[in-house]
Amino acid sequence: MLYDNHGREINYVRIAVTDRCNLRCFYCMPEEGIQYMPKKDLLTFEEIERLVTLLAAMGISKVRFTGGEPFVRKDFMELVNSISAIQGIDSLHLTTNGVLTGPYVQQLKQAGVKSVNLSLDTLDRERFKIITRRDEFDNVMDTLNLLLKENIEVKINAVVMEGKNTDDILALVDFTKDKPVSVRFIEEMPFNGEGSHYPILNWTHKKIIDHIQGAYPNMVKIKDEPHSTSYNYSIPGHLGNIGVIAAFSRTFCGTCNRIRITAQGTLKTCLYDDGVLSIRDLMRSQASDTQIKETLSKAFRNRAKDGFEAERARRSGAGVSESMSTIGG
Ligand code: SAM
Ligand code: SF4
Repeated sequence: MLYDNHGREINYVRIAVTDRCNLRCFYCMPEEGIQYMPKKDLLTFEEIERLVTLLAAMGISKVRFTGGEPFVRKDFMELVNSISAIQGIDSLHLTTNGVLTGPYVQQLKQAGVKSVNLSLDTLDRERFKIITRRDEFDNVMDTLNLLLKENIEVKINAVVMEGKNTDDILALVDFTKDKPVSVRFIEEMPFNGEGSHYPILNWTHKKIIDHIQGAYPNMVKIKDEPHSTSYNYSIPGHLGNIGVIAAFSRTFCGTCNRIRITAQGTLKTCLYDDGVLSIRDLMRSQASDTQIKETLSKAFRNRAKDGFEAERARRSGAGVSESMSTIGG
């Protein structure tokens, strides 16, 4: 088992396979002017496979693919299949916007993908268009239905945005009545390529929970999974459940079990740090497997205590503002 310098187990890696995306979500990317990385700067599939093999030997057993939009990367399913075959990786997951995902749902099932997080911030087609700046609502809903048909566990990620989709919160809760999905409401963070959208975050996890409880006083707290980032609730009679993720308030750092690999192959040991090691450069400098593992171990032993400490330690001295599309969420 792998532990950091604060005694937290690390067993989960999230890999952004590209920074490219076919949507332009308000909370993630500016509408125009985003500079994508040249392809040569991304980790190749071979490099990702080597890295995951080394991480698996060190104690990582869970992998999530994210992005950008994973399905925008050519032959993405080949990567899913190769990573699913790595010894020690027993839990494979995906975060996707669902626009291009539908045709691959059966292949995801065959590859053993255990759950899919689908980004869906509203159930209203027009609002979807305003938030994502693209008209792709129907494709996302088709993907959702296909995932449910294949019995793949689905978590819906909904970022709560003041003045954009707070009217959708209760509609998304209602959606769990007949659908066996977990809807997770996420505090908006300033990872949008521009910085903070509000001087103060009004829609905190507490306000979201109070708002839902106002409409559903019978909502009950359920047990959170170990290392869960969400506070989870169920509503009697609903097939699905709901969760709230305090991503901006950072209440979950004490049990954080995850590391991130950005699209350009940088290791982040905290979402709020600005990258602690270029694994891509290390690999391309012909480092041996042993050297890579030693360098990774050192980084894991130097992890920030929480997201506030990591943010204060950023080399730029400034707060977070980079687009989530390079980090993966
Ligand atoms: N494109 C895929 C998708 O949208 O599911 C995967 C990448 S996306 C960056 C991963 C997750 O990050 C999404 O669920 C999205 O809602 C979340 N996210 C992006 N920007 C965010 C922000 N500024 N605050 C909170 N969550 C954010
Ligand atoms: Fe694309 Fe996902 Fe970012 Fe939306 S949240 S712009 S779908 S990467």
